[in-house]
Formats: sequence, C-alpha cells, structure tokens
Amino acid sequence: MPKEFHPPARILMGPGPSNVDPRVLLALAKPLVGHLDPEFVRIMNNLQELLRTIFGTKNHLTIPISGTGSAGMEAAFVNVVEPGDKVLVCVNGVFGERMTDVAERCGAQVRPLSTTWGKPFDPQMIRDELRTFRPQVLAIVHAETSTGVLQPLEEIRDILKEFPETLFLVDTVTSLGGHPVKVDEWGIDICYSGTQKCLSCPPGLAPITFSEKALQKIKKRTKKVQSWYLDMNLVGKYWGSERTYHHTAPISMNYALLEALRIIHEEGLENRYDRHRRNHLALVRGLEAMGLSMLVEEPFRLWSLNAVKIPPGIDDVQLRKKLLDEYNLEIGGGLGTLKGKIWRVGLMGYSSSETNVLYFLMALEQALRAQGYEVPKGAGITAAQEFYSQAK
Ligand SMILES: *Cc1c(COP(=O)(O)O)cnc(C)c1O
Repeated sequence: MPKEFHPPARILMGPGPSNVDPRVLLALAKPLVGHLDPEFVRIMNNLQELLRTIFGTKNHLTIPISGTGSAGMEAAFVNVVEPGDKVLVCVNGVFGERMTDVAERCGAQVRPLSTTWGKPFDPQMIRDELRTFRPQVLAIVHAETSTGVLQPLEEIRDILKEFPETLFLVDTVTSLGGHPVKVDEWGIDICYSGTQKCLSCPPGLAPITFSEKALQKIKKRTKKVQSWYLDMNLVGKYWGSERTYHHTAPISMNYALLEALRIIHEEGLENRYDRHRRNHLALVRGLEAMGLSMLVEEPFRLWSLNAVKIPPGIDDVQLRKKLLDEYNLEIGGGLGTLKGKIWRVGLMGYSSSETNVLYFLMALEQALRAQGYEVPKGAGITAAQEFYSQAK
C-alpha cells in the first residue's frame, strides 16, 4: 500500500499551474451534488455570468469546457473548422505550433505564418497573408507562454474589418485574469483560456466563448463536429436552457472555478491587472540590477510570464533543481529553440505577489552565486523594493 500523499507546499512561479488561494482548495472539498441538481444549475448560471465579465463579452455561449487549456484549444478549432477550410495560424512559439497541429487534424488547409520567437507579429504581415490566402479562420495566441510575448490585438481587429468572412480565434490561456482581455471590443469570435494560469484554479477547466458569427459558422456545417465530447451543439444544450445530459460535469472543479472567479471579482479586474503589472515591473527591475536581461522588448512583455535570458556559463537544469530542492520554488525552463537559453518566471494570479518577487530574487541570487556568477549582494531585492516604495 503506498503511503498517503503529502505534496510539498511549493511556490509555483513557472509557466503554470500557479498557486491557488486556500479558498479555492476548500471549495474542492465541498460535498458533491448531481450535475442536474437545481443548486448546481444555479451555480452554472453564476459561472457563465462571471466568465462573460472577465472575457469582456455578452456572448451567450460562454462556458467552462471540461478539460485543461488544450481542450479549450481543441474545442475552438473542431467546432468552427470543417475539412477543407482554410486556416491561417500565427506561429511565434510552442502554442502557435500546437494550434497548427490541432487545425491540421481537423482536415483544414493550414497556412502557418511565422515570426521570430520572442517577437510579436507585425499586423501588416498578417494583412498581406489574409489578402492572398482568404482564410475562414485567423488564429493567434494573445499571450505566448513559451516566449513571454504579448500580442496586441487592436490593429489586427481593424485589419479584419476588411475580411468579414474570416473568424478571429484567440488563445488567452496565459492572459485571462492577468491582462485585460476584451472579446467584444477586439472583435474576437472564438476565445478560450485555462483555469490553471492567471485564474489560479487547479488545471481541469477551459473557459471558452463563441460569438454569434462563430455560431452561424457552426450551424452551417455540412459534416458533424469530429469530436463528440467537444461538440458545442451538444455541450451547449447542457449549458443552455434545455439542460440535456451530455457528459457528467466535473462538479468539484466547477465549485473551484466559481470561487476563483468570485475572488477575482472581489479584487476587481482593474486592481488585478495593476497588481500583475506592478509585480512584473518590480521583478524586471530586480533582474536587471543583477545584470540579467529579458528576452522580449519592453512594450510586448507579458506581466504573467517573464522570459529571462540565462547568462553564459550557467547550468540551467542545475540552477532550477537548486531552486526547487532548497527553496521549494518552481520556475520553468525554455521550450523548443529556447531550451537552455531562457528561464520562464510566472507571476500568475495568486502567485503574483510582492513576497514571491522578493523571495525569488533572493533565491536566484544564491543559486547564481553558487555557480560562480558575480552579483552585488542584495542588488536584485534592493532594486525591486525601491520600485515598490516608489509605486506606493
Ligand atoms: C498552458 C497553455 C495552453 C495549454 O493549456 P493546458 O492547461 O496545459 O492544456 C495553451 N495555450 C497557452 C498559451 C498556454 O500557455
């Protein structure tokens, strides 16, 4: 018989999952009710309302998909893409690549449009491609977690006005709850996220929203959605007025999401974005004072995911192991072409705090010094603290 599992209380400052508020953990321990219980139906309505607010949308079909962020991605594509459809996918990191893979599996003609990892897309480049390719769907990642890049979406929205037949599909897994996301204002037709990043809820649900235009495209399909589990025609009936059984909703995860969203709305969206921005800026000040530099240029840096260049001569794996073993602190390494070149330091949701920023800078200084990297004593923490006192 294996022993009961007692997970260590890690400080999660990687690319996800983030730490969760103890209130969310308590919500997971509440007694189950049935998935058609009137009390559960009531919180389903609350969840939809709170999700609409955080997505900045009036879209009726706004629900949490059962599954992690990738299930949200899959649900977005399988519903609006039919075999033979043309899909333009913007790729400047791992999650753009994943979108390409998912769209190909839908039988789409996929055209990946690439730019350098660590840089955002120039909207004019997207316009040129839209003109020649005329896709049914344009897909892009708002917050590319593999590189720390924030992609501005307003200009792309303006360009899309010239292409009324194209649906705008956006991944906001690492931005929702940490950066402003404005689905209606930015003309987004399909937008999905995940619970485990800036919403600070365990992994397991994927909030998603579909515009009226997206629903029309789904209605006009000639072939059934290839995924039974993620078919919005069926899932939508359970979340809609009919409440028809489709699959058993993950009851406890929905409790957890309700509590996580309640916490977000108690804090206030603007206050929450300010907190993410402030902690990101303090972290950058600290890192720069230690002689380190960021991968991404200033206006395009994510507040929720900080990509830091690893200085030459430093062993990436050994340093992260030291942080985990001795400081109980998790950060992420680079993915794909950035493997061994960057660290990914997450400041998402509950994990985005002054305490975590200062603790991380302290631990990083020790870990760098152990590998012979010269850091003026306390330089990082001092710079971050100065920033915080000026910001107050
Ligand atoms: C994490 C992430 C995903 C996938 O979410 P999972 O919860 O790991 O399935 C998709 N897109 C982006 C941008 C992400 O950061």
